[in-house]
Amino acid sequence: MSVQSSPATDKAVARALKDVAARIDSAVKRSGRTQPVRLVAVSKTKPAGAIQEAYDAGHRDFGENYVQELLDKAPLLPGDIRWHFIGHLQSNKARALLEGVPGLACVQTVDSAKLADRLNRIATDLQRQQKLGVMLQVNTSGDESKAQVAAALGVSADSLELSMGMSGDFEQAVEMGSTNVRVGSTIFGARNYSK
Ligand SMILES: *Cc1c(COP(=O)(O)O)cnc(C)c1O
Repeated sequence: MSVQSSPATDKAVARALKDVAARIDSAVKRSGRTQPVRLVAVSKTKPAGAIQEAYDAGHRDFGENYVQELLDKAPLLPGDIRWHFIGHLQSNKARALLEGVPGLACVQTVDSAKLADRLNRIATDLQRQQKLGVMLQVNTSGDESKAQVAAALGVSADSLELSMGMSGDFEQAVEMGSTNVRVGSTIFGARNYSK
C-alpha cells in the first residue's frame, strides 16, 4: 500500500530534514570527530503521510514512542524503514512490538535486565534476519555510569553509540559526542495532542 503525501507539507518536511542534516554536519565538523551521526526523525503523533514524505526525501530512520501507534503505522509504510523505539517499553508489550514491526532496528530504551532478556528471547524465537539493536538507558547524573556499562559489557567505549539530543539541543549533543539524535518537531512541526 502506498500513502499519498500532500505537496505543500511535502516540501516543508523535506526542507526541514535537509536543514537539520546540515546543522548536524556542521556540529560534527566543530566537534572534530569523524564518527557519523544518525538522525532519527521522531514521528510520534504524526500521520503516516508525513512519514512517507520524509521517506520520499530519502530518509529511513524514524522514531516512535508508543507501541500501539507504531503497530498501526508501520504496516502502512515501506518495509525498509528502520524503526527506533524511543518510549518506555513494558516487557509485556515487547512481543507485540517485535512481531508487528519486522523493520524494528533498535529499542533505544532498555531499562532493565528483564526487558533485555525478554527482547533477546523474542528476537531469537522470531528468527529475525537483522540483529535487533538495543541501547541501555543510563542515569547520566552518576559520573561513572557510562564507564560502568562499558566495563560490564566488555566492549570499548568508542565502539558504543550514544543517543542524546532532541530539537532543542541536538547540535550541542553532537558536539558532546552523541552519535544518534532524535529530532521531532523541528522536522514535522509542533505536535498536537488534543486529538
Ligand atoms: C518526542 C521525543 C523526541 C523528539 O522531541 P522534539 O523536541 O520534538 O525534537 C526525542 N526523544 C524522545 C524520547 C521523545 O519522546
